[in-house]
Amino acid sequence: MKEIVIISGKGGTGKSSITGSLAVLAGRAVITDCDVDAADLHLLLNPTLIDRHDFISGHEAVIDQSTCISCGKCVELCRFDAIESSNGIFAVKPIGCEGCGVCVAFCPVEAISFPQSHCGEWYHSETATGSMFHARLKAGAENSGKLVSTVRSEAKKWAKQVDAHWIISDGPPGIGCPVISSITGTDLAVIVTEPTLSGKHDLERVLKLVKHFQIPAKVIINKRDLCESISDEIADLAESHGAEIIGRIPYSPVFNQAQNAGKPVVLFAPESRESVLIREIWEKIERLA
Ligand code: SF4
Ligand code: SF4
Repeated sequence: MKEIVIISGKGGTGKSSITGSLAVLAGRAVITDCDVDAADLHLLLNPTLIDRHDFISGHEAVIDQSTCISCGKCVELCRFDAIESSNGIFAVKPIGCEGCGVCVAFCPVEAISFPQSHCGEWYHSETATGSMFHARLKAGAENSGKLVSTVRSEAKKWAKQVDAHWIISDGPPGIGCPVISSITGTDLAVIVTEPTLSGKHDLERVLKLVKHFQIPAKVIINKRDLCESISDEIADLAESHGAEIIGRIPYSPVFNQAQNAGKPVVLFAPESRESVLIREIWEKIERLA
């Protein structure tokens, strides 16, 4: 079983559209959406929910008004300005608490409890192309990296159980903690980029990241005809980092049309030039992984 993660240095490159099509082409695949802050792969793959699980991580402070003596110590000590007071009533702001526990330790009357924090949910669903593991992080919640690890580990367990050949993961954009959680230990990172100056800059950062974690990387230039000269610069950049370009896809309205129809491109327009290019990309990935 091979695990392929599709990432991008920035959002809006068409990463999820391409991932949806690759998941279809992979056949016996388990699919994960590791972009837990802004999951959207479900819009293309229309999953049917099988089960739902709470994601509990870290702690949050809760002030018991009946015990609080309004001394103000907690406001003074909270470095995150997460506690507000009004007319002698002290309360923790709903999404402000970072769970450091300082106020809990120093409240003179032990008025602050510290329950575990419900940060979101993760799901096991079925799609027409295979089982899917995805998640939703609560607004303002931390620990997206841990939620990504949970999604990946549940997907791996399932993939072993059903003897899947592939895990195809839609990774988050950028180079932050959830991206690191998405790529560590995978067999191949496929980076989707676009030929703009910011696209090139962000590609360089993500190429350095995958190199640091020693993950083999390949690059797809989406919307390659937005600027042919930057496309060429991107190809040189990728090559200088040892990452082969495995596809150059021209700008095409078919991606938006497929998205509006809630389908991956290879299902929405299987005979289109874009589908042919994506199939060629998948054949290369199959050979490489
Ligand atoms: S430190 Fe404790 S008693 Fe003082 S205001 Fe905060 S919760 Fe109330
Ligand atoms: S646990 Fe830390 S971050 Fe949360 S309210 Fe208390 S001092 Fe502030």
